[in-house]
Amino acid sequence: MLIKGIVQGVGFRPFIYQLAHDFSLNGWVLNSSRGVIIEAEGTTDDVNGFIKEIETKSPPLALIESIECEILPPAGYESFIIKSSLQEDKKFLLISPDISICDDCLRELFDSKDRRYRYPFINCTNCGPRFTIIEDIPYDREKTTMKKFKMCERCQKEYDDPANRRFHAQPNACADCGPSLELVGSERAIIKCKDPVMETIELLKEGHIVAIKGLGGFHLACDAQNDEAVSRLRERKRRFGKPLAVMMSDIDTVKKHCFVNEKEEKLLLSYRRPIVLLKMFPSSTISDLVAPNNTYLGAMLPYTPLHCLILKESNMVLVMTSGNLSEEPIAFENDEAMERLGDIADYFLLHDRGIYSRYDDSVARVSDGKEVMIRRARGYAPFPIHLPFELKPVLACGPELKNTFCLTKGKYAFVSQHIGDMENMETLEHFEETLALYKRLFRIEPEIVAYDLHPEHLSTKFAKSLKGVELVGVQHHHAHTVGCMVENGIEDKVIGVSFDGTGYGTDGTIWGGEFLIADWKGFERYAHLRYVPMPGGEMAIKKPYRMALGYLYNLFGSNFGDFNMGFLKGLDEIELRNIKVQLNKGLNSPTTSSCGRFFDAVSALIGLCDVVDYEGQAAIELEMTAKEGIDEGYDYSLEKSQSSPLIVDTKPIIEGIIDDLKNGLSNSVISAKFHNTIAAFVIAVCDRAREEKGINKVVLSGGVFENLFLSNKLIQKLRNDDFEVYPQKKVPCNDGGISLGQAVIANFSV
Ligand code: ZN
Ligand code: ZN
Ligand code: FE
Repeated sequence: MLIKGIVQGVGFRPFIYQLAHDFSLNGWVLNSSRGVIIEAEGTTDDVNGFIKEIETKSPPLALIESIECEILPPAGYESFIIKSSLQEDKKFLLISPDISICDDCLRELFDSKDRRYRYPFINCTNCGPRFTIIEDIPYDREKTTMKKFKMCERCQKEYDDPANRRFHAQPNACADCGPSLELVGSERAIIKCKDPVMETIELLKEGHIVAIKGLGGFHLACDAQNDEAVSRLRERKRRFGKPLAVMMSDIDTVKKHCFVNEKEEKLLLSYRRPIVLLKMFPSSTISDLVAPNNTYLGAMLPYTPLHCLILKESNMVLVMTSGNLSEEPIAFENDEAMERLGDIADYFLLHDRGIYSRYDDSVARVSDGKEVMIRRARGYAPFPIHLPFELKPVLACGPELKNTFCLTKGKYAFVSQHIGDMENMETLEHFEETLALYKRLFRIEPEIVAYDLHPEHLSTKFAKSLKGVELVGVQHHHAHTVGCMVENGIEDKVIGVSFDGTGYGTDGTIWGGEFLIADWKGFERYAHLRYVPMPGGEMAIKKPYRMALGYLYNLFGSNFGDFNMGFLKGLDEIELRNIKVQLNKGLNSPTTSSCGRFFDAVSALIGLCDVVDYEGQAAIELEMTAKEGIDEGYDYSLEKSQSSPLIVDTKPIIEGIIDDLKNGLSNSVISAKFHNTIAAFVIAVCDRAREEKGINKVVLSGGVFENLFLSNKLIQKLRNDDFEVYPQKKVPCNDGGISLGQAVIANFSV
């Protein structure tokens, strides 16, 4: 019998062992790189009962995908045993993500009579590190970073005892034989103390920044209710506006600071333990600097025993942000962390259990009653997305920002954990190391390689450097749309609404406000937002006021600067003059149909956000200010010329906003009207496409749809208009979901 799925490292063999005894069967069970193999001998009834209970009673973390049975001649086994693992080349199996601490281990952790009382690395077959410690398959201790710790007698006994819940728990350890903590100060001096956890808590209470080594990398921690500490962390990390995640000791504490509905509570408590975006109470005592100008807070519960000790014993709310400088990947090795984070952290809480693969915290939220991924990493990857069909072995190299890659095999798409922004060599290295690991773990040698059309992206350059493979360039928004189609199991043509910041178009311009008629094989650009110039190119992304000027130029031509508008007042005169020259002469002013840039422009135009220090900030602040309960919108028009795509003309929208500004309307009303307008023209274009093409399925993808004020409204209205609407859930709607779409498109184009 061969069982496939997530069946290793989840207490599956002890379960089979126990079950075989219950049914008085003899034979054996073993782990192979194909899955779990069982030979069981007994009466037909007993064997059938055994198979049935494998399906119905398997351990909580096991995920059975298939059971293949075969009848063999009697072998005359005298007992049921667990055989040692078997390795077979080219075969592979699914690997469990890391799992948060289970209730049994949590109980022991705080039980003063237990031998693992307050041991920060307690784990069992139902919980603990998995993916982050695995170097190769099959999943056995010698192939993990735990191999350097020799189990003590007592641990070994548990490990060997099929009736014990630590039977073959590969990271099994105790204070006598396993990993331990070490607190290190500046200049790498070891701080001698009896209890590094208590010492760390003291330091955090004093307002220090401590780098804490976790499952998949380092966190930078500080007291989230101490303005001065949070501000120092931001200063040193050079991250000024982007919200920071916090960790709280338990669900009741979360409820003191945030609105939590039933589904959000379930998600917070799930064994995946993602950061969940929650509406924060205005009365919360968490520092305003944690998520400035944002009504949401990213909160998570402790997921390792070490977190549980620190959080429960300190009763603090901690900022727990990834241990990196902005843009760089998360630090994961002790020396590397002390090197790279030395200027940020005052202290380091280290341990000596190696991390084999970097693994950021996942970020999720509940929207439209469903769990929606924003960053997919810990607890989720490397679990695959199921495809409705078989694919050839494809590697999709992903986009530049929020990169993930995707490898396919059979009906599985292995979308990697979040890799990061591929703008520096460190992130490229992280990409290459993780890719090598996935290829090894899942035994995939890609024959087709997909890349984004943007010639300057590091991921594109990497793809093009590969030899002996079929290369396929994929348009960014086509990839967004197909990624969303695939996770929703859609095979026929759709209206793909793909709104984001930047994606390289087939005409060499920057797209981002796109309506595609698409399937897996190709697309037609049905409509898009009117092109506007981006004065200064990339600089217009960092400085949204430049985008606002681009829109004004588009509306008024060369006189665009002669207005007495608030947002122009603070601008440097020389820069303003330069921008005018750039626009009037078309110098360094690429044109874009981006919807993200449209949000940026409006945010700057109304004086809300003129410079950003993280991606999407201007648009997020515009969303946060929007007032509920407003129904009006602005005028827009749809322009159709013969063979070219339909154009959504945004000029009347900008005109309307300028009028409202003159009439002194508040930003919150203008923002609401703006959001309503976007929803209105999306519906108008979809209506028209439905009429012309007879397509009723609308797929929503692209980072703009992280905006809940927009997407909730839009989804509702499209449904009221009898469209079938498909937002993204399993993979992020932002560029983290691109690689999945790329892989499928590439598969069908060769
Ligand atoms: Zn456990
Ligand atoms: Zn031990
Ligand atoms: Fe995108």
